[in-house]
Amino acid sequence: MANKDRYDVVVIGAGPGGMTAAMYASRANLSVLMLDRGIYGGNLNNTATIENYTGFKSIKGPELAQQMYDGSIQFGAEYAYGTVTNVEVNADGTKTVSTDMDEQFVAKAIVIATGSEQRHLGVPGEEEFSGRGVSYCAVCDGAFFKDKPLIVVGGGDSAVEEGMYLANLASQVTVLVRSDKLRAQPMLQDEAMKNDKMKFIFNTSVTEIVGNDTKVTGVKTHNNQTGEDGTMDADGIFIYVGNVPMTKQFASLGILDDAGWVKTDNTMKTAVPGIFAVGDVRETPLRQIATAVGDGSIAGQQVYQYIQSLEK
Ligand code: NAP
Repeated sequence: MANKDRYDVVVIGAGPGGMTAAMYASRANLSVLMLDRGIYGGNLNNTATIENYTGFKSIKGPELAQQMYDGSIQFGAEYAYGTVTNVEVNADGTKTVSTDMDEQFVAKAIVIATGSEQRHLGVPGEEEFSGRGVSYCAVCDGAFFKDKPLIVVGGGDSAVEEGMYLANLASQVTVLVRSDKLRAQPMLQDEAMKNDKMKFIFNTSVTEIVGNDTKVTGVKTHNNQTGEDGTMDADGIFIYVGNVPMTKQFASLGILDDAGWVKTDNTMKTAVPGIFAVGDVRETPLRQIATAVGDGSIAGQQVYQYIQSLEK
Protein backbone atom coordinates (compact mmCIF):
# COMPACT_ATOMS: atom_id res chain seq x y z
CA MET A 1 0.00 0.00 0.00
CA ALA A 2 1.09 3.58 -0.68
CA ASN A 3 1.60 6.08 2.11
CA LYS A 4 -1.37 6.95 4.28
CA ASP A 5 -2.33 10.55 3.63
CA ARG A 6 -4.18 12.21 6.51
CA TYR A 7 -7.21 14.47 6.21
CA ASP A 8 -9.82 15.78 8.59
CA VAL A 9 -12.51 14.50 6.23
CA VAL A 10 -12.65 12.14 3.28
CA VAL A 11 -15.81 12.54 1.19
CA ILE A 12 -16.49 9.41 -0.83
CA GLY A 13 -18.32 10.41 -4.00
CA ALA A 14 -18.38 13.76 -5.80
CA GLY A 15 -22.01 14.16 -6.81
CA PRO A 16 -24.12 17.13 -5.63
CA GLY A 17 -24.27 15.82 -2.03
CA GLY A 18 -20.56 15.04 -1.75
CA MET A 19 -19.46 18.26 -3.40
CA THR A 20 -21.64 20.31 -1.06
CA ALA A 21 -20.34 18.49 2.03
CA ALA A 22 -16.77 19.12 0.81
CA MET A 23 -17.49 22.80 0.29
CA TYR A 24 -19.01 23.30 3.74
CA ALA A 25 -16.29 21.32 5.53
CA SER A 26 -13.41 23.06 3.72
CA ARG A 27 -15.02 26.46 4.31
CA ALA A 28 -14.87 25.58 8.01
CA ASN A 29 -11.10 25.22 7.56
CA LEU A 30 -11.03 21.43 7.64
CA SER A 31 -8.70 19.54 5.30
CA VAL A 32 -10.94 17.69 2.85
CA LEU A 33 -10.38 15.07 0.18
CA MET A 34 -13.16 14.14 -2.25
CA LEU A 35 -12.67 10.75 -3.86
CA ASP A 36 -14.64 9.61 -6.88
CA ARG A 37 -14.42 6.60 -9.18
CA GLY A 38 -14.87 8.92 -12.18
CA ILE A 39 -15.54 12.48 -13.17
CA TYR A 40 -17.16 14.70 -10.53
CA GLY A 41 -20.90 15.32 -10.91
CA GLY A 42 -22.23 11.80 -10.45
CA ASN A 43 -25.59 11.24 -12.13
CA LEU A 44 -25.69 14.89 -13.23
CA ASN A 45 -23.45 13.78 -16.07
CA ASN A 46 -26.19 11.46 -17.38
CA THR A 47 -28.94 14.06 -17.12
CA ALA A 48 -29.85 16.08 -20.18
CA THR A 49 -31.78 18.99 -18.71
CA ILE A 50 -32.64 19.97 -15.14
CA GLU A 51 -35.68 22.14 -14.57
CA ASN A 52 -36.33 21.57 -10.88
CA TYR A 53 -33.21 22.84 -9.15
CA THR A 54 -33.77 26.25 -7.60
CA GLY A 55 -31.82 29.10 -9.16
CA PHE A 56 -31.84 27.69 -12.66
CA LYS A 57 -34.83 27.83 -14.98
CA SER A 58 -33.15 25.13 -17.03
CA ILE A 59 -29.57 23.84 -17.03
CA LYS A 60 -27.77 20.90 -18.60
CA GLY A 61 -26.59 18.25 -16.11
CA PRO A 62 -22.86 18.36 -17.02
CA GLU A 63 -22.91 22.18 -16.86
CA LEU A 64 -24.37 22.13 -13.35
CA ALA A 65 -21.79 19.48 -12.38
CA GLN A 66 -18.97 21.79 -13.50
CA GLN A 67 -20.41 24.79 -11.62
CA MET A 68 -20.88 22.74 -8.46
CA TYR A 69 -17.35 21.38 -8.71
CA ASP A 70 -15.83 24.85 -9.18
CA GLY A 71 -17.66 25.98 -6.04
CA SER A 72 -16.77 22.90 -4.05
CA ILE A 73 -12.98 23.30 -4.39
CA GLN A 74 -12.80 27.06 -3.90
CA PHE A 75 -11.98 26.76 -0.17
CA GLY A 76 -9.23 24.18 -0.58
CA ALA A 77 -10.99 20.81 -0.84
CA GLU A 78 -8.97 18.37 -2.95
CA TYR A 79 -10.34 15.93 -5.50
CA ALA A 80 -8.83 12.61 -6.59
CA TYR A 81 -9.79 9.56 -8.62
CA GLY A 82 -10.16 6.22 -6.92
CA THR A 83 -12.82 3.62 -6.26
CA VAL A 84 -13.14 3.05 -2.54
CA THR A 85 -12.85 -0.63 -1.78
CA ASN A 86 -12.91 -0.59 2.02
CA VAL A 87 -13.44 1.59 5.07
CA GLU A 88 -12.04 0.49 8.39
CA VAL A 89 -12.67 2.08 11.77
CA ASN A 90 -9.38 2.20 13.70
CA ALA A 91 -8.95 1.74 17.47
CA ASP A 92 -8.47 5.51 17.92
CA GLY A 93 -11.73 6.26 16.07
CA THR A 94 -10.06 7.45 12.85
CA LYS A 95 -11.09 5.80 9.62
CA THR A 96 -8.84 4.25 6.99
CA VAL A 97 -10.19 4.51 3.45
CA SER A 98 -8.62 2.17 0.86
CA THR A 99 -8.94 2.52 -2.89
CA ASP A 100 -8.37 0.36 -5.96
CA MET A 101 -5.45 2.67 -6.82
CA ASP A 102 -3.53 0.98 -3.99
CA GLU A 103 -3.85 4.07 -1.81
CA GLN A 104 -4.96 4.59 1.77
CA PHE A 105 -6.22 7.73 3.44
CA VAL A 106 -6.77 8.23 7.15
CA ALA A 107 -9.49 10.66 8.21
CA LYS A 108 -11.12 11.78 11.43
CA ALA A 109 -14.49 11.63 9.67
CA ILE A 110 -15.88 10.35 6.41
CA VAL A 111 -18.93 11.32 4.39
CA ILE A 112 -20.43 8.59 2.21
CA ALA A 113 -21.88 10.18 -0.91
CA THR A 114 -21.61 7.34 -3.41
CA GLY A 115 -25.17 7.68 -4.69
CA SER A 116 -26.91 5.04 -6.68
CA GLU A 117 -26.53 3.39 -10.06
CA GLN A 118 -29.11 2.28 -12.55
CA ARG A 119 -30.74 -1.07 -11.99
CA HIS A 120 -30.37 -3.56 -14.81
CA LEU A 121 -33.40 -5.38 -16.15
CA GLY A 122 -31.77 -8.76 -15.75
CA VAL A 123 -33.14 -10.25 -18.99
CA PRO A 124 -31.29 -12.33 -21.60
CA GLY A 125 -29.47 -10.17 -24.17
CA GLU A 126 -29.07 -7.17 -21.85
CA GLU A 127 -25.40 -7.68 -21.01
CA GLU A 128 -24.61 -9.13 -24.45
CA PHE A 129 -25.88 -6.03 -26.27
CA SER A 130 -24.73 -3.47 -23.71
CA GLY A 131 -22.94 -0.78 -25.74
CA ARG A 132 -24.35 -2.29 -28.96
CA GLY A 133 -27.83 -0.80 -28.67
CA VAL A 134 -28.56 -1.29 -24.96
CA SER A 135 -27.90 1.90 -23.02
CA TYR A 136 -28.55 3.43 -19.60
CA CYS A 137 -27.63 6.97 -20.64
CA ALA A 138 -29.61 9.01 -23.17
CA VAL A 139 -27.22 11.96 -22.98
CA CYS A 140 -24.22 9.74 -23.72
CA ASP A 141 -25.68 7.52 -26.45
CA GLY A 142 -28.80 9.23 -27.83
CA ALA A 143 -26.96 10.87 -30.72
CA PHE A 144 -26.08 7.44 -32.18
CA PHE A 145 -29.78 6.88 -32.92
CA LYS A 146 -30.72 9.90 -35.03
CA ASP A 147 -34.01 9.22 -36.87
CA LYS A 148 -34.10 5.61 -35.62
CA PRO A 149 -36.89 3.96 -33.59
CA LEU A 150 -36.07 3.49 -29.91
CA ILE A 151 -37.56 1.69 -26.92
CA VAL A 152 -37.40 3.06 -23.37
CA VAL A 153 -38.13 0.65 -20.52
CA GLY A 154 -39.56 2.05 -17.26
CA GLY A 155 -42.24 4.42 -16.04
CA GLY A 156 -40.56 6.76 -13.51
CA ASP A 157 -39.22 10.30 -13.85
CA SER A 158 -36.05 9.09 -15.57
CA ALA A 159 -37.83 7.02 -18.24
CA VAL A 160 -40.19 9.86 -19.12
CA GLU A 161 -37.66 12.69 -18.93
CA GLU A 162 -34.91 10.88 -20.82
CA GLY A 163 -37.51 9.51 -23.26
CA MET A 164 -38.42 13.09 -24.15
CA TYR A 165 -34.75 13.91 -24.66
CA LEU A 166 -34.44 10.92 -27.00
CA ALA A 167 -37.59 11.93 -28.88
CA ASN A 168 -35.71 15.04 -30.08
CA LEU A 169 -33.30 12.74 -31.89
CA ALA A 170 -35.10 9.50 -32.73
CA SER A 171 -37.86 8.83 -35.28
CA GLN A 172 -40.06 7.40 -32.51
CA VAL A 173 -39.70 6.52 -28.82
CA THR A 174 -41.89 3.74 -27.45
CA VAL A 175 -41.98 3.59 -23.66
CA LEU A 176 -42.75 0.13 -22.29
CA VAL A 177 -44.33 0.34 -18.82
CA ARG A 178 -44.76 -2.89 -16.88
CA SER A 179 -47.82 -1.72 -14.90
CA ASP A 180 -50.97 0.16 -15.93
CA LYS A 181 -49.62 3.58 -14.91
CA LEU A 182 -46.60 5.83 -14.90
CA ARG A 183 -44.84 6.75 -11.68
CA ALA A 184 -43.36 9.97 -13.12
CA GLN A 185 -44.36 13.44 -11.87
CA PRO A 186 -47.70 14.54 -13.42
CA MET A 187 -46.14 17.54 -15.19
CA LEU A 188 -43.62 15.31 -16.97
CA GLN A 189 -46.37 12.86 -17.90
CA ASP A 190 -48.50 15.64 -19.41
CA GLU A 191 -45.60 16.95 -21.45
CA ALA A 192 -44.64 13.50 -22.73
CA MET A 193 -48.21 12.57 -23.64
CA LYS A 194 -48.37 15.66 -25.86
CA ASN A 195 -45.18 14.69 -27.70
CA ASP A 196 -46.09 13.21 -31.12
CA LYS A 197 -42.91 11.15 -31.21
CA MET A 198 -43.61 9.40 -27.91
CA LYS A 199 -45.85 6.40 -27.49
CA PHE A 200 -46.64 4.57 -24.21
CA ILE A 201 -47.48 0.88 -24.03
CA PHE A 202 -48.69 -0.24 -20.59
CA ASN A 203 -48.79 -3.63 -18.84
CA THR A 204 -45.83 -4.74 -20.90
CA SER A 205 -42.57 -6.29 -19.67
CA VAL A 206 -39.44 -6.92 -21.70
CA THR A 207 -38.47 -10.58 -21.48
CA GLU A 208 -35.46 -10.56 -23.80
CA ILE A 209 -33.34 -8.17 -25.84
CA VAL A 210 -32.60 -9.54 -29.28
CA GLY A 211 -30.15 -8.64 -32.04
CA ASN A 212 -27.95 -9.83 -34.86
CA ASP A 213 -24.18 -10.32 -34.95
CA THR A 214 -23.50 -6.63 -34.53
CA LYS A 215 -26.36 -4.87 -32.79
CA VAL A 216 -29.76 -4.81 -31.15
CA THR A 217 -32.78 -5.32 -33.39
CA GLY A 218 -35.59 -5.28 -30.82
CA VAL A 219 -37.17 -6.89 -27.77
CA LYS A 220 -39.44 -9.77 -26.85
CA THR A 221 -42.37 -8.66 -24.70
CA HIS A 222 -44.99 -10.12 -22.38
CA ASN A 223 -48.35 -8.51 -21.73
CA ASN A 224 -48.94 -8.73 -17.98
CA GLN A 225 -52.73 -8.43 -18.39
CA THR A 226 -53.51 -10.70 -21.34
CA GLY A 227 -50.53 -13.02 -20.96
CA GLU A 228 -49.74 -12.52 -24.64
CA ASP A 229 -46.12 -12.63 -25.85
CA GLY A 230 -44.88 -10.40 -28.64
CA THR A 231 -41.91 -8.75 -30.30
CA MET A 232 -41.06 -5.17 -31.11
CA ASP A 233 -38.35 -3.79 -33.41
CA ALA A 234 -36.00 -0.99 -32.38
CA ASP A 235 -32.43 0.13 -32.98
CA GLY A 236 -31.78 1.06 -29.36
CA ILE A 237 -33.11 0.09 -25.93
CA PHE A 238 -32.74 2.61 -23.11
CA ILE A 239 -33.30 1.15 -19.66
CA TYR A 240 -34.57 3.32 -16.78
CA VAL A 241 -36.01 0.94 -14.20
CA GLY A 242 -34.85 2.57 -10.98
CA ASN A 243 -31.67 2.67 -8.97
CA VAL A 244 -29.66 0.55 -6.55
CA PRO A 245 -27.34 1.98 -3.87
CA MET A 246 -23.58 1.85 -4.32
CA THR A 247 -22.74 0.62 -0.85
CA LYS A 248 -21.17 -2.87 -1.15
CA GLN A 249 -17.88 -1.66 0.34
CA PHE A 250 -19.69 -0.36 3.45
CA ALA A 251 -21.61 -3.56 4.25
CA SER A 252 -19.36 -4.57 7.14
CA LEU A 253 -19.88 -1.24 8.97
CA GLY A 254 -23.42 -2.18 10.03
CA ILE A 255 -24.96 1.06 8.72
CA LEU A 256 -27.11 -0.26 5.83
CA ASP A 257 -30.78 -1.19 5.69
CA ASP A 258 -31.98 -4.45 4.15
CA ALA A 259 -32.01 -2.97 0.65
CA GLY A 260 -28.47 -1.58 1.04
CA TRP A 261 -29.27 2.14 1.55
CA VAL A 262 -27.33 3.92 4.33
CA LYS A 263 -29.36 4.63 7.47
CA THR A 264 -28.81 8.08 9.01
CA ASP A 265 -30.57 10.39 11.43
CA ASN A 266 -31.67 13.82 10.27
CA THR A 267 -28.20 15.24 10.94
CA MET A 268 -26.74 12.75 8.42
CA LYS A 269 -25.02 10.73 11.18
CA THR A 270 -24.86 6.97 10.78
CA ALA A 271 -24.64 4.58 13.73
CA VAL A 272 -20.83 4.82 13.58
CA PRO A 273 -19.40 8.01 15.16
CA GLY A 274 -17.63 10.09 12.52
CA ILE A 275 -19.32 8.38 9.56
CA PHE A 276 -21.95 10.49 7.79
CA ALA A 277 -23.95 9.87 4.62
CA VAL A 278 -25.68 12.23 2.17
CA GLY A 279 -27.74 12.24 -0.99
CA ASP A 280 -29.18 9.37 -3.00
CA VAL A 281 -27.23 6.73 -1.07
CA ARG A 282 -29.28 7.46 2.06
CA GLU A 283 -32.49 5.79 3.14
CA THR A 284 -34.64 8.82 2.26
CA PRO A 285 -38.13 9.56 0.90
CA LEU A 286 -36.93 11.85 -1.91
CA ARG A 287 -33.88 11.61 -4.14
CA GLN A 288 -33.28 14.92 -5.89
CA ILE A 289 -30.36 17.26 -6.54
CA ALA A 290 -31.92 19.71 -4.08
CA THR A 291 -32.21 17.11 -1.30
CA ALA A 292 -28.64 15.91 -1.87
CA VAL A 293 -27.36 19.48 -1.63
CA GLY A 294 -29.35 20.02 1.57
CA ASP A 295 -27.93 16.80 3.03
CA GLY A 296 -24.41 17.87 2.05
CA SER A 297 -24.65 21.21 3.82
CA ILE A 298 -25.91 19.56 7.02
CA ALA A 299 -23.16 16.92 6.89
CA GLY A 300 -20.43 19.52 6.25
CA GLN A 301 -21.47 21.42 9.35
CA GLN A 302 -21.96 18.27 11.44
CA VAL A 303 -18.51 16.98 10.48
CA TYR A 304 -17.05 20.23 11.75
CA GLN A 305 -18.88 19.87 15.07
CA TYR A 306 -17.78 16.22 15.37
CA ILE A 307 -14.12 17.11 14.83
CA GLN A 308 -14.38 20.00 17.29
CA SER A 309 -15.79 17.57 19.89
CA LEU A 310 -12.74 15.28 19.45
CA GLU A 311 -10.43 18.14 20.31
CA LYS A 312 -12.11 19.04 23.62
P1 NAP B 1 -38.11 4.98 -10.05
O1 NAP B 1 -38.81 6.24 -9.67
O2 NAP B 1 -37.73 4.00 -9.02
O3 NAP B 1 -39.02 4.27 -11.15
C1 NAP B 1 -38.63 3.03 -11.69
C2 NAP B 1 -39.59 2.67 -12.81
O4 NAP B 1 -39.11 1.47 -13.41
C3 NAP B 1 -41.01 2.38 -12.32
O5 NAP B 1 -41.92 2.78 -13.31
C4 NAP B 1 -41.00 0.86 -12.16
O6 NAP B 1 -42.25 0.25 -12.35
C5 NAP B 1 -40.11 0.47 -13.33
N1 NAP B 1 -39.46 -0.82 -13.14
C6 NAP B 1 -38.76 -1.26 -12.07
N2 NAP B 1 -38.27 -2.51 -12.30
C7 NAP B 1 -38.70 -2.84 -13.55
C8 NAP B 1 -38.53 -3.99 -14.36
N3 NAP B 1 -37.82 -5.03 -13.94
N4 NAP B 1 -39.11 -3.99 -15.58
C9 NAP B 1 -39.81 -2.91 -16.03
N5 NAP B 1 -40.01 -1.80 -15.31
C10 NAP B 1 -39.45 -1.77 -14.09
O7 NAP B 1 -36.73 5.28 -10.86
P2 NAP B 1 -36.23 6.56 -11.69
O8 NAP B 1 -37.24 7.03 -12.65
O9 NAP B 1 -34.89 6.16 -12.22
O10 NAP B 1 -36.02 7.67 -10.58
C11 NAP B 1 -35.15 7.44 -9.47
C12 NAP B 1 -35.23 8.60 -8.51
O11 NAP B 1 -34.72 9.79 -9.10
C13 NAP B 1 -36.68 8.94 -8.13
O12 NAP B 1 -36.70 9.34 -6.79
C14 NAP B 1 -37.04 10.07 -9.05
O13 NAP B 1 -38.06 10.90 -8.55
C15 NAP B 1 -35.70 10.80 -9.16
N6 NAP B 1 -35.61 11.54 -10.43
C16 NAP B 1 -36.12 12.80 -10.44
C17 NAP B 1 -36.10 13.53 -11.61
C18 NAP B 1 -36.65 14.92 -11.59
O14 NAP B 1 -37.05 15.39 -10.52
N7 NAP B 1 -36.69 15.62 -12.69
C19 NAP B 1 -35.58 12.99 -12.79
C20 NAP B 1 -35.10 11.69 -12.74
C21 NAP B 1 -35.14 10.96 -11.56
P3 NAP B 1 -43.34 0.13 -11.16
O15 NAP B 1 -43.94 1.49 -11.02
O16 NAP B 1 -44.26 -0.90 -11.69
O17 NAP B 1 -42.57 -0.32 -9.94
